[in-house]
Amino acid sequence: MRWRQIHLVQWVERDSKMSTIMVVHGGAWAIPDELAESSVDGVKFAACEGSKVLKGGGSALDAVEAAVRSMEDNTEFNAGHGATLNAAGEVEMDAIIMDGKTLSSGAVSAVKNITNPVSLARAVMEKTTNVNLTSRGANLFAESIGMATVPTDTLVSVYERKEWERHKAYVTGVMEDFNSQWAHDTVGAVALDCAGNVACATSTGGIRHKMVGRVGDSPIIGSGAYADNFTGAVSCTGHGESILKVTLARLILSHVAQGKSLADSSQLSLKYMGDRVQGAGGAIAVSPSGQWAVAFTTVRMAWAAVDGDVLCYGLNPGERFKEQLAQ
Ligand code: ASP
Repeated sequence: MRWRQIHLVQWVERDSKMSTIMVVHGGAWAIPDELAESSVDGVKFAACEGSKVLKGGGSALDAVEAAVRSMEDNTEFNAGHGATLNAAGEVEMDAIIMDGKTLSSGAVSAVKNITNPVSLARAVMEKTTNVNLTSRGANLFAESIGMATVPTDTLVSVYERKEWERHKAYVTGVMEDFNSQWAHDTVGAVALDCAGNVACATSTGGIRHKMVGRVGDSPIIGSGAYADNFTGAVSCTGHGESILKVTLARLILSHVAQGKSLADSSQLSLKYMGDRVQGAGGAIAVSPSGQWAVAFTTVRMAWAAVDGDVLCYGLNPGERFKEQLAQ
């Protein structure tokens, strides 16, 4: 079965604590050829946006927010502009951000008219004593802090509206047989900053035709993302219900805590998810010592990483292209 093949793309071990690392993903799924190039361009751009923050001395938290915002602004991805539509044809987005230094985390779920849910999640983390605000509450909070809202329709891309119409008849099939791997391309980022802190963020419109009010793994701490300076930072993507059942992000880091490498931990955890609950997905991870890993069990996952002055990226299993960045 497909999920038994684990595609591990990269793992690098580094010693220097002063190096910064930025890794992003644009969702693990069967990305069609017509979206392949734009997805790769989008993740490369996002990784560079996040890396700019890190190279300017910014925090891992600022970097993951910047990287995810750039993908939320890009209609190629299922987050912010371009989010998938639920069974009622509405946008309902989820996002999380987490700081590995303090374990502070903020998340929002089922929000409708916010351009950058990851920034609202960060505001939940920094301006409230809560971890996750949902739906109307999240929108009321956004209003209370003066965060701009947009008419929900402006978030819906032409592509998504067409795909939603096209797949309407297959709602049950998509939900019951996720491994048809249609229509989900959540975005995520993990970073290590020059102070040795790690952070992560994940943002999504969820799975097309999801039930109204359905919340997947992405905004759930320990499932869609987790960051802890003692072990590392992880952002996940894939079938949300499967990721929730195995708390994938935390599962990966629990293997790391037992002394396994990030690569082995990611592989073992994705294999466990496939074997135990028949779910496919992907993860990106970074450790405080500068290891980073990209792994997925879906057909494709667009990813990119900036490690020093090298931009690495890929889409298909085993792919790892490299570009030297200008210094
Ligand atoms: N994990 C997301 C969800 O289930 C979908 C994805 O990663 O593409 O909502």
